[in-house]
Amino acid sequence: MHLADVLARDSFTASFEFFPPKQPGGWDALFGSIAEFESLKPSFVSVTYGAGGSTRQFTHDLVVRIRQETSLDAIPHLTCVNHTTGEIDEILTRYARAGVSNILALRGDTPRGIAPTVNDFAHALDLVKAVRAFEARGLHPDQRGFGIAVAGYPEGHPETPNTLTQMDHLKSKCDAGSDLVISQLFFDNHAFFDWRERCELAGITTPILAGIMPITSIAGLKRMADLAGGTRFPAALLRAVRRAQDDPESVARVGVHWATEQCRSLLDHGVRGIHFYTLNKSDATRTIYQNLGVRSSEALRE
Ligand code: FAD
Repeated sequence: MHLADVLARDSFTASFEFFPPKQPGGWDALFGSIAEFESLKPSFVSVTYGAGGSTRQFTHDLVVRIRQETSLDAIPHLTCVNHTTGEIDEILTRYARAGVSNILALRGDTPRGIAPTVNDFAHALDLVKAVRAFEARGLHPDQRGFGIAVAGYPEGHPETPNTLTQMDHLKSKCDAGSDLVISQLFFDNHAFFDWRERCELAGITTPILAGIMPITSIAGLKRMADLAGGTRFPAALLRAVRRAQDDPESVARVGVHWATEQCRSLLDHGVRGIHFYTLNKSDATRTIYQNLGVRSSEALRE
């Protein structure tokens, strides 16, 4: 379903992000989790894309398989680093043929240790424009073309220290025809609320979803700090994790409790939707729903 229709249908959206497993055995495990996620009735799910190249095909395969085997609406992420315009056209053609309605358009980062190759795109904005140009050639069956989501950074993107310039870049992506902004993960809701207000002041009217990723282990916390550069870990959270550090289950309980409180406050402040970075495991998200006292996303829309 086109993102515009999803947003018109659901006054609040819950969405879950998956990544394509690298090993064949990981697919069965993932589909086991997906069955559990399905019962939470999300508005859509999304599937990440490896900017490095080795698992790129798997994003397409996973999106198609989710469409065929479940009731879920899957949105592929697409990154433009190390891609030519011809390659992006080819990927969009395959998605259009497979009946995929939406794309999460990203720049991506060239992974460490991999030399950049031919690159027709400098920024996600160029990819958004490429998607719209693809549709202008009549290559998508839906008159409206693909629904497009883009990324936003409540605590800033490390490459653009000037936050006003960064807001200009986000606005350009929205003005180029994006239907939705999905935020980078954050642990301090004040940062998100303030950013949302700054987006409004900048004239951004595109709906914004809050990205939530519960901490489930100390190793996971360290990985997040590395991958989501710029994201701040509040002292109160770090203190709580430190108190629990000798017991992995307690660390996960602390992380899920923190994420639950974030979700509760986001809901109270009328957030348009929450995008859960799930790491393919349903336990943390299901516990958050239980803690919020709801069985599925439908109850969050009431
Ligand atoms: P851009 O919007 O291009 O921004 C990147 C940087 O360039 C920013 O600092 C911006 O301010 C700056 N910039 C933008 N336009 C200009 C301009 N005209 N001139 C100068 N500077 C400019 N990565 C993956 O590899 N695979 C994934 O599946 C994936 N999924 C993600 C999902 C979400 C919701 C989020 C938040 C991130 C995801 N990422 C993924 C990570 C993302 O690719 C990186 O954070 C990347 O560094 C930035 O991507 P972007 O789309 O925000 O890029």
